[in-house]
Amino acid sequence: MFTKSVLSSVFALLLFSSCFTWANQIETSKPGPIAIALHGGAGTLSPQQFTPERKAQYYAKLSEALEAGYRILQTGADGQEAVVAAIMILENSPLFNAGVGAVYTFDAEHELDASIMHGKTREAGAIAGVKHIKNPILAAQAVMNHSVHVMLSGDGAETFAEQFAIERVDNSHFNTERRLQSLHKAKARIKRQASLNYQHPEKFGTVGVVVLDQLGNLVAGTSTGGMTAKRFGRIGDSPIIGAGTFADNASCAVSATGHGEYFIRYQVASDICKRMTYQNLSLAEAADEVINRVLVDAGGDGGIVAVDAQGNVAMPFNTTGMYRASIDANGVKTVAIFE
Ligand code: ASP
Repeated sequence: MFTKSVLSSVFALLLFSSCFTWANQIETSKPGPIAIALHGGAGTLSPQQFTPERKAQYYAKLSEALEAGYRILQTGADGQEAVVAAIMILENSPLFNAGVGAVYTFDAEHELDASIMHGKTREAGAIAGVKHIKNPILAAQAVMNHSVHVMLSGDGAETFAEQFAIERVDNSHFNTERRLQSLHKAKARIKRQASLNYQHPEKFGTVGVVVLDQLGNLVAGTSTGGMTAKRFGRIGDSPIIGAGTFADNASCAVSATGHGEYFIRYQVASDICKRMTYQNLSLAEAADEVINRVLVDAGGDGGIVAVDAQGNVAMPFNTTGMYRASIDANGVKTVAIFE
């Protein structure tokens, strides 16, 4: 009799605790919020430059990349998959200064830079000055996931990429007539300025994506052809962790576009996230402070896209326009170019 009642109490207890664990598991496995933001460059853009058809082209490509990344986030995949997929769509479009459509160097070639950072582990991968990798973001991802290093450059980066069967192409794959015309204009300007460098770039077409995935991971990636008429192996901010790309699950993920030298010197991407940590600022406040005060005071043109751990999105820029798109944690979608 006694044994029977003890047994039934134990059974009831077990049943209760397993129901509790089960309920708990449902609670903890509930997917977290997701968000994505991307840019296709910032600069002196004016609505008059855009025919309705041209504007529609940009909107369509930004939306395509945004939705591709968002769909991946909805599956519960790691954020890096969404970042890479969305960036590849932009790299494969001639509209942006990354992959096909990359700007020309002074010597009429293309040298590409890219980086990616994962906010959970703070692991990062970057490649700089590569000439034959069709989708530089894939090589940056391979560096992050398979190399003990963070940044590889030039021929060495190409050799590394080969080991992962990452597609390589002739440098002419990246050619576009529009960017060639920009090179001719830049060279004429350099001649007038009698300077070794092109000092007044006005348009930046770098691409970048930041996401919050269902597990609370913040990931950022950036890919670029750099700046028109660059020479002497110039590398900008895009492949530099902390400058053009940064992610930390504790604060935010940022991808930048603009005059890279300023973004390097002011460590723009990490500065925004650190202001959240050290000054307890919101994402919007920190991003605004760095882009619209620090950079403006310094004379640095450009903008960023950023997302925080709650899925808030910020996309400030201090130029007249920035190609951008986002879906925040509430599912609100934005696609825009001008202010
Ligand atoms: N930030 C890039 C660089 O300086 C240029 C861009 O944003 O288009 O290389």
